[in-house]
Amino acid sequence: MSEIIVGIDLGTTNSAIAIVQDGVPRILPKNDQKIIPSVVGYSKQAGWLVGRPALNQYTLDPENTVRSIKRDMGSDRRVSLGGREFTAQEISAFILRELKTIAEENLGQPVTKAVITVPAYFTNAQRQATKEAGEIAGLEVVRIINEPTAAALAYGLDHEDDQMALVYDLGGGTFDVSLVEMTGGVVEVRASHGDTHLGGDDFDELLADYANTAFDKKHQLSLKDNRLAMARLDRAAEAAKVRLSDFPDAHMREEYLAEKNAIPLHLDTKITRIEFEELTKKLLARTTESMQKVLTDSELSIDDLDRVLLVGGSTRMPAVWDLVSDFTKLEPDAEINPDEVVALGAAVQAAIIAGQPVSSILVDVTPYSLGVESATRVGGHIVPDIYSVLIRRNTTIPVTKEQVFSTLHPDQESVQVKVYQGEAPIASVNTLLNEFLIDNLKPASKGQCPTVNIRFDFDVNGMLHVSAADPISGSKKNVSVHATQARLTPSEIAAARDQLNMDMFSEEESDEDGLEIDDNALPEIDDETRALLRRANILLDGGKLTEEQTNKLQELMKKITEADNQSEFDTCSEELLDMLFDLE
Ligand code: AMP
Repeated sequence: MSEIIVGIDLGTTNSAIAIVQDGVPRILPKNDQKIIPSVVGYSKQAGWLVGRPALNQYTLDPENTVRSIKRDMGSDRRVSLGGREFTAQEISAFILRELKTIAEENLGQPVTKAVITVPAYFTNAQRQATKEAGEIAGLEVVRIINEPTAAALAYGLDHEDDQMALVYDLGGGTFDVSLVEMTGGVVEVRASHGDTHLGGDDFDELLADYANTAFDKKHQLSLKDNRLAMARLDRAAEAAKVRLSDFPDAHMREEYLAEKNAIPLHLDTKITRIEFEELTKKLLARTTESMQKVLTDSELSIDDLDRVLLVGGSTRMPAVWDLVSDFTKLEPDAEINPDEVVALGAAVQAAIIAGQPVSSILVDVTPYSLGVESATRVGGHIVPDIYSVLIRRNTTIPVTKEQVFSTLHPDQESVQVKVYQGEAPIASVNTLLNEFLIDNLKPASKGQCPTVNIRFDFDVNGMLHVSAADPISGSKKNVSVHATQARLTPSEIAAARDQLNMDMFSEEESDEDGLEIDDNALPEIDDETRALLRRANILLDGGKLTEEQTNKLQELMKKITEADNQSEFDTCSEELLDMLFDLE
């Protein structure tokens, strides 16, 4: 048997341990939990606590609980716990020893060697302290590797052609962004930038403040000085934040949070995802500055990036995905669980050192996006046939996502829900999976448009369960459909996507009213413009245009496809967009 070397992600908020078995990297869990909180505590009754029990104690007894010790690694600071003084290495060693025990229980044999990850910005002193922590825990640290490098290894980037990846890592307490370069199978961090005091905790804090303001407004009592109540608010805020990643709103309810004149007071407040995103947008803006800085520092531009990897539990927030994809103009990779990816990558490095073969990590993902048809109003016009995606392609399954839609008119009592699979921005160009009617819709108050909550549950068997519900009238409809499901590698997904793009856009569309769209002759036409041309063709096919409209539309399409400079191309595309808005 080859020697066992484990991979460890020793994180600020959470830690995990992984190993490559039969060529496949996997996390070693404790009681089905794949990550443990990086928290150490001491209790008079129970003695030393590590992980979840220590975190549970934090709410009740913060003085005897230590969190985020990673921030002190390499410093001289001592923390006192259980009547003794400890260095940061010694506290970290508690966490490492717990991980070692978890590994030994899973594997049924001793574990003595490890690869441990650290942030790319860690100094030599911090790396040395991490090594010492391992030794105190009884682990020989055979290598210290950078967290972004580990993420790149987990995604198998060392097997791919030379490329540049941006690794965006937003965890519980820290944010890092790194540029990782792959050349000849060697993965190296080229530049790194970050904020050691920005993470999910800051989002929780803003949300807890929001709840406290709502509580104060209702009961004229602020909880700011009530440490225990604030700790409970923090916990409720984190749970609400996690829910808002998949659902359009979240309730924060805490009973008996405080007392006033001997009367118990409860918290009961609601927040929508839109409100939450507004509340926290300044935090995310700081991450954009870091992305810009890391590119400037390394004299690179967005065009030099080939891949973007999302790492850290907080990247599950949809606003992060949107921000990163808008900034980089790339579709980020997020299919490997963002809070496991670093430990899995450390295990890959460990296997390489041990001379074990490693195959790439396979995850079950949705190979295509799933959504519904919607319409919107632009400048008084209704634009129909818009594809609203609920589950993006490459999302790990099983997954549940919910979104609220409102009707176009206040007196509208029914909605036809059309469920599509595909990537085109025009709904009808995608594959229609099913459609159904939900009726008996009621507005929340007179003059308002009724709303419908659409929920998608995609299960491991590839069944998509769609439900539509009106929260006011209680009206509800469900359907289940078979969506295409696959166990695909990232390269298979990319191939499937390219094929889909070709299927959608390269077919010859020639009829007397339409124009032929020839991909090969017009490489500069992007997907957006292709979609515009396709919409124009659909209108021309419909036969409802006047002769003048038909001529104008055909003229614009011709100008776009024959434009010999970018500015003419842009002007005509904009004109076509305006005309489509009017006509549709
Ligand atoms: P990490 O340090 O990578 O384990 O990330 C921990 C942070 O991720 C904590 O602040 C969690 O609240 C946050 N987190 C985990 N899951 C989600 C989620 N689904 N949506 C938003 N934040 C999440």
